[in-house]
Amino acid sequence: MSPFPIVTLKTDFCVVGGGLSGLSAAVAAARRGTGVVLVQDRPMLGGNASSEVRMWICGAHGENMRETGIVEELELENQHRNPYKNYSIWDSVMLEIVKKEPNITLLLNTTCTDGRMEGNKLREISCWQMTTQKIFRIEAKLFADCSGDSVLAPVTGAPFRMGREGRSEYGESIAPEQADARTMGMSTMIVAREYPGERKFVAPSWARKVTKEDLKLRTPDMRNPGENFWYLELGGMRDAIGDTEEVRDELLKLAYGIWDYLKNDPEERDKNRNFDIDWIGILPGKRESRRYIGDYVMTQHDVSSGGRFDDIVAYGGWTMDDHHPGGFDAKDEPPTIFHPAPSPYGIPYRSLYSKTVENLFFAGRNISVTHTAMSSTRVMATCALLGQAVGNAAAIASREGLSPREVGKKRIRLLQENLMDDDCYLPGLRRRVSPLAMESRLESDMENAEAVRNGVDRPVGGAGNAAEGKAGSFLRYLLPAGREAGSVRLVFDSDLDRKTLPGEEAKLRRPMFHNLLLHREASYTPKTLVRDFDLIYKTAEGEKTIAVRGNYQRLVRVSLPGKASEVTLRILATHGEETARVFAFDVIEAE
Ligand SMILES: Cc1cc2nc3c(=O)[nH]c(=O)nc-3n(C[C@H](O)[C@H](O)[C@H](O)COP(=O)(O)OP(=O)(O)OC[C@H]3O[C@@H](n4cnc5c(N)ncnc54)[C@H](O)[C@@H]3O)c2cc1C
Repeated sequence: MSPFPIVTLKTDFCVVGGGLSGLSAAVAAARRGTGVVLVQDRPMLGGNASSEVRMWICGAHGENMRETGIVEELELENQHRNPYKNYSIWDSVMLEIVKKEPNITLLLNTTCTDGRMEGNKLREISCWQMTTQKIFRIEAKLFADCSGDSVLAPVTGAPFRMGREGRSEYGESIAPEQADARTMGMSTMIVAREYPGERKFVAPSWARKVTKEDLKLRTPDMRNPGENFWYLELGGMRDAIGDTEEVRDELLKLAYGIWDYLKNDPEERDKNRNFDIDWIGILPGKRESRRYIGDYVMTQHDVSSGGRFDDIVAYGGWTMDDHHPGGFDAKDEPPTIFHPAPSPYGIPYRSLYSKTVENLFFAGRNISVTHTAMSSTRVMATCALLGQAVGNAAAIASREGLSPREVGKKRIRLLQENLMDDDCYLPGLRRRVSPLAMESRLESDMENAEAVRNGVDRPVGGAGNAAEGKAGSFLRYLLPAGREAGSVRLVFDSDLDRKTLPGEEAKLRRPMFHNLLLHREASYTPKTLVRDFDLIYKTAEGEKTIAVRGNYQRLVRVSLPGKASEVTLRILATHGEETARVFAFDVIEAE
């Protein structure tokens, strides 16, 4: 008998790990009516994106390729609430989106330590909540491992891979000749703050001695908005899980060592005179460890050839950013090689559930990909899309009593439809516009009005895919006789390229700032977004108006109490740009 209280929870879907992939999986499933328990071992959500590690969210390169769905919702909320890009406020943005969902039970400070199988299914996991000294036993129909390190692999016996595949295994030209156990390393970040006057620094005796020679292929520069010391990287030649604590100690020695070099070396100290340490990460950010084996293992070829999968549920578009496993110790090698990748490339659903454990999904850096493919799929906006895909798949599986594999075989089109309805872009597919919108008469004084029901909710290729007009312009649906709308779904333009004036890149493009320079200007909600609009609709009792003011989101759903036979969207103002763009305007049949 345990001396600690045991709490038993039963749920549809249990997500282990609350990084951007786990958070997105939990929110997506909950919004589709699934009961979710989200277990996160840290006091906050976000994983490597949180204030504990401080990685900024990257994703697909290229024009209009920014990821939408939950990750864009989070980023727009952050632009609105956190113009100075404060990490504590960002933590609260991630916490809020989960806390708002009544279907999610969130367990913070709770570590999954074990589980119980029944045949090929995981039935229950056991967790320890540090702050309350309670044991949680969580029974679920479905599980998702979004822990990064794949804690449920040893628990379930699910097959996984750690290290790099040999070149001939999948015919990957950028893989090493022989398979090995090496991974990309871990890093600790430094946030530097600039002060009006000099700040001195005395190094601890245990700091590593860093020299100019160590930095010949690495260039610290606190004034560069892309600087966050990511190349302070170690541990790739060691056990990426078992040696984490020792690697953390080495990383701290290195962080203090480099700061000593920057502050006290005669060649460096003048330009860094007014900088001080604001924060040093004590929790190493981990790039790579166990990757599950699913029904499909995605490879370098799939990335390079654009990932044209029938079961596409997400996309990537970061380069294959393959860090040298020697990290900072390999001073004669560049810290990473950016092998080009097309943007976008598709990611298949079959890489998101276990080959052997019948009710186990995964999302994040641990999906079923080779090391080389993972060097691209691991960035956090991609991870968030993977999480949203898994959350939506879990909702279908739970409602229809299907296994993850059966969802792929029987309901893949529904899964893709639901994702596109949630504003996730699936390259090559067109969203099914609501039948009511297609059957209604559309009137408008905007240019290209028909684009609001063409099923593509962003510019693609040369096509803008948006109705365009100035403040005061309108779009109106006249519904067929006897039909009624109960809600509308709108997609506005959040400027997926986050176009900025010259010199403003750091303000809007980067989801977060890193080094804190003396002069920092506030960022802002993209100027293209529609801010104020009216929905004017006809009901049996007469005309009604819903006035929406201060909108700062891209995907907006509004219900129409009283049911409508005619619906007009009138644009009143954007956040600054003269022309408003509407990518989608769907009227949804009343129930
Ligand atoms: C130094 C560094 C720099 C990087 N640079 C970038 C970048 O600039 N942009 C970018 O987009 N990506 C970057 N990446 C990659 C990216 O951060 C990761 O690939 C991504 O965070 C993986 O997401 P995830 O949700 O799978 O894991 P994580 O973000 O690690 O989240 C997993 C969460 O699960 C929790 N967890 C683990 N075990 C358990 C358990 N047993 N029980 C409960 N919870 C558990 C963890 O504490 C963690 O919070 C970088 C990574 C590193 C390490």
